[in-house]
Amino acid sequence: MPDTATMDKIVALCKRRGFIFASSEIYGGLGSTYDYGHYGVLLKTNVKNEWWRAMLQERDDIVALDSAILQHPRTWEASGHLAGFTDPMVDCRTCGQRFRADHLQDLPCPQKPSKHPGEGPSCDLTEARDFNLMFETTMGPVKDSGATVYLRPETAQGIFVNFKNVLQFSRKKPPFGIAQIGKSFRNEITPGNFVFRTREFEQMEMEFFVPPAEAAQWYAFWKQARHDWYTELGLRDDHLRMREHDPDELSHYSSGTADVEYLFPIGWSELEGIANRGNFDLTQHSEYSGQKLEYFDPQTKERYVPHVIEPAAGADRATLAFLVDAYDEDDLGGEQRTVLKLHPRLAPVKVAVLPLVRKDGQPEVAREIFTALRGRMQAEYDEGGSVGKRYRRQDEIGTPFCVTVDHQTLEDRTVTVRERDTLTQERVAIDDLADTLAARLAAPWQSPKLGAAASG
Ligand code: ATP
Repeated sequence: MPDTATMDKIVALCKRRGFIFASSEIYGGLGSTYDYGHYGVLLKTNVKNEWWRAMLQERDDIVALDSAILQHPRTWEASGHLAGFTDPMVDCRTCGQRFRADHLQDLPCPQKPSKHPGEGPSCDLTEARDFNLMFETTMGPVKDSGATVYLRPETAQGIFVNFKNVLQFSRKKPPFGIAQIGKSFRNEITPGNFVFRTREFEQMEMEFFVPPAEAAQWYAFWKQARHDWYTELGLRDDHLRMREHDPDELSHYSSGTADVEYLFPIGWSELEGIANRGNFDLTQHSEYSGQKLEYFDPQTKERYVPHVIEPAAGADRATLAFLVDAYDEDDLGGEQRTVLKLHPRLAPVKVAVLPLVRKDGQPEVAREIFTALRGRMQAEYDEGGSVGKRYRRQDEIGTPFCVTVDHQTLEDRTVTVRERDTLTQERVAIDDLADTLAARLAAPWQSPKLGAAASG
């Protein structure tokens, strides 16, 4: 069965419901940068919080870091970004557009969108040349070369340059990890596909420092753990795969890299990379800084440079994958509804409280319930429009539960709880409501689209 979600539908829903919109829209937008509105912020925050939960709360061998976006320029010499963080670029002399030379087969020709750049009769592409993806800026008031700094193109290097600090203060020893979430910037030649590839994005990266002999084992561990994180949060297993890089795709220092790929409407594409980076990063920074970046094991009296396993994910790409996977269109006996079947833990709003009518004391009771619930979970109160319209609105933002106050509520202090995916309605006593909802939110969940595909 083909997926109902297309990129156009996702973009339209995100705009309609205030999840994500083009940045600087009143000035005509700015090439591939996006702003997150209320529900987008709540959703992406939940994605990031789930990542923190998996890294910090559920383990005791990883610590958090929040390093600066601007780092000493030597960082990027040591990491190899200054010399080698490039993509091959070609220009078309006819249309004046610029393309990534290694993505021509995935891009439409601006003159003839049914063809790829270079395939049209009038296309005239230049030879490919390297283009560095780092954004440059100037530090301080004097614009000379000594003051050039870069917006970080990844969060990882901020972790490596803090290895010594963390080792000293965290009371950890290998195997241990340092995790960070933050903005990264890449002057992508051909950004696109909504928030899949933008020039400013958020990464969720963790560097796991291990004794060299344990690197292979931890590489296998993190590949499985990161795959499972996505499926536990509801991504359908048949839309997720692990693609091990071929030896000729590997960077010279990596003995293994695998991508977690998701079947987006644009095809299988990378969500996250997991790499066995050896001791490359610490060795490089040690050489460039003159500082020893190693671990001395007091028990074995052994001194070594730890090897690094890196799971590197994108918060925006993950958010997009969760949106795509959740998007559904149901036929409710002739009436269509658009619904986001998001994992309840990711849903921006957990419960909406709706009085059936705006009179007879119902709004007052509904507000009282809303006030009691919002201390426990993200809740919303809505009394405007027909109840059917209000349900549709909550379906579109993925709210798992709607609580409706009606005339019976005023008699016996019960409400109906409507469930987003099954559309079942059940009466629950107001006094039990918060506990009932909290228990349901914490229960294991799997995408109802999986069941639908099996029976369809
Ligand atoms: P790609 O091959 O798609 O350019 P990459 O292999 O260069 O990605 P990494 O350097 O491994 O990406 O970065 C880790 C993660 O950061 C990616 O898996 C992705 O989720 C995210 N990411 C990287 N570049 C972008 C971007 N331009 N926009 C949004 N997310 C990005």
